[in-house]
Amino acid sequence: MMPLRAHYDVIVLGVGGFGSAACYHLARRGVRVLGLEQFPLLHDRGSSHGETRIIRLAYFEHPDYVPLLRRAYELWADLEASTAKTLFRKTRLLISGPPEGEAIPGALRAAQEHGLDVESMTAGEAMRRFPDFRLPEDHHVVLEPDAGLLHVEACVEAHIDEARRAGAEIQGEVPVLGWGRDGAMLYVDTHFGRFTATRLVITAGAWTGRVLADAGLPLTVVRKFVGWYEVEPGAYDVDRGTPTFYIEQPDGAFYGFPSMDRRTIKFAEHTGHDVVDDPATVDRSRRTEDVARLEAFRQNVLPRTRPILDRHSVCLYTLTPDRHFVVDDHPQDDGVIVAAGFSGHGFKFTSVIGEALADLAWKGRTEAPIEFLRWNRPALQGNG
Ligand SMILES: Cc1cc2nc3c(=O)[nH]c(=O)nc-3n(C[C@H](O)[C@H](O)[C@H](O)COP(=O)(O)OP(=O)(O)OC[C@H]3O[C@@H](n4cnc5c(N)ncnc54)[C@H](O)[C@@H]3O)c2cc1C
Repeated sequence: MMPLRAHYDVIVLGVGGFGSAACYHLARRGVRVLGLEQFPLLHDRGSSHGETRIIRLAYFEHPDYVPLLRRAYELWADLEASTAKTLFRKTRLLISGPPEGEAIPGALRAAQEHGLDVESMTAGEAMRRFPDFRLPEDHHVVLEPDAGLLHVEACVEAHIDEARRAGAEIQGEVPVLGWGRDGAMLYVDTHFGRFTATRLVITAGAWTGRVLADAGLPLTVVRKFVGWYEVEPGAYDVDRGTPTFYIEQPDGAFYGFPSMDRRTIKFAEHTGHDVVDDPATVDRSRRTEDVARLEAFRQNVLPRTRPILDRHSVCLYTLTPDRHFVVDDHPQDDGVIVAAGFSGHGFKFTSVIGEALADLAWKGRTEAPIEFLRWNRPALQGNG
């Protein structure tokens, strides 16, 4: 039996994007919370690194995300205010795609259903306004004025710092080796002994499949290659109004950010299926096929970039079959709350889902409109 170290109200397993936010919202409520992270805090081995993340409202994946996003924006602004840090930058988002594709009709539907202010234009008009981009003539373009980017590492750090300031204990380099229930108590085992709690929040990202080995949640981890290419002087400059962008093409969807350093621009492919068996041993090198995918996109759409890949990073998506998140109690134990399967579009929600996880862990229910993210939906039962 592991030596018993201490007891908490809530233990958060995995302190990345969602775990750090959950620790913050729990600690602010005076809950005794312990956050355990297997790697050094703010590491670059999971899904919450790489400088920037797009945040947007006209949500083409499904309009039901919009109310969550409105609250997410409020909470990011609160966190900026309490930390005096810049976490969000409004840059607008340029979405370009075929009128009958996924992104354009989805964004227009979300905007229409929720009365969001977006601009709709032809590819020609968009290229006159944003001459650094070359867009297919048959594309339609939606420009979302309130979209922008989040500084991902600064966001995770802000949640961790504010959680600690509110009394949370957060430990890096403490892998959870196993968890379970012992009567009224939930426990996690580590190299340093056993910790117990009344509730357990599992935010293990790409490792969720392992942490929830026998729960049968269908999750697929995929490797994502992100590149920073050199730009011509003054090109794609964030201070000159270059927006974040999402471009849906027949061979895949790509997204990117304005140049933040006046030297390089970051972009990557959102689609693609480079499945990973073990998140801990994923290949983080620069592969020929990785560069070829980005190079083809660069040549087609970003004419003022240079064919010089300045740097890259590898990151992990955890996909559900329907690409919607799972935020719910564990089906076999309602003392265990799970947030997983963010399918490459979750970071912008870490603030609001962190709040919902604190509700679920502490009150057993939440006002947050997350019914569509429940575990028992057909798509997760293998018949969706
Ligand atoms: C390349 C890329 C681009 C993206 N772009 C966007 C974007 O523009 N906008 C957007 O909203 N989203 C985007 N996303 C998605 C978003 O980044 C993720 O949904 C989000 O970061 C997931 O956070 P997480 O907390 O689930 O995972 P993580 O941040 O990886 O946290 C999980 C943590 O659990 C820890 N852990 C796992 N097992 C254990 C254990 N046994 N013991 C202790 N700790 C453990 C891990 O080490 C890790 O730190 C992108 C993702 C990638 C990869």
